[in-house]
Amino acid sequence: MKTTMTRVGFCPKCKALGAEVSDEFVAFGQDSQLYKQIYTLYKGVSGYTPHLYQFISLVGDTIFYIRVCSMVGCGADIIEKIIDKKPTYKMVIYKNAWSSEMPMSLKDWTALEDFTDTGFEL
Ligand SMILES: [Zn+2]
Repeated sequence: MKTTMTRVGFCPKCKALGAEVSDEFVAFGQDSQLYKQIYTLYKGVSGYTPHLYQFISLVGDTIFYIRVCSMVGCGADIIEKIIDKKPTYKMVIYKNAWSSEMPMSLKDWTALEDFTDTGFEL
């Protein structure tokens, strides 16, 4: 079971921002197990943005999880620092932007895990 994954979700804050939403977001790489910076290539349906989903616990056949919109300027930020004259980037997920714990059936969670369209083109 994946403990953190990047999948599309609905964000009312990004919906309200409309075209002012950033064109960058932070994704969690399944292979690298690291956060990485990604530029969106296409702005799809308003309000549907990349989110990080984080597994908390399994009780019976119900998953409890938290999620956060990972658009830069909404739930995440990318900080550039110059170290040894080279730019380095630190991915930041705002702690207070994470949702409270929410339930989802194990079946739905598994379907979310199996959905691996990484184009984020809704
Ligand atoms: Zn958002």
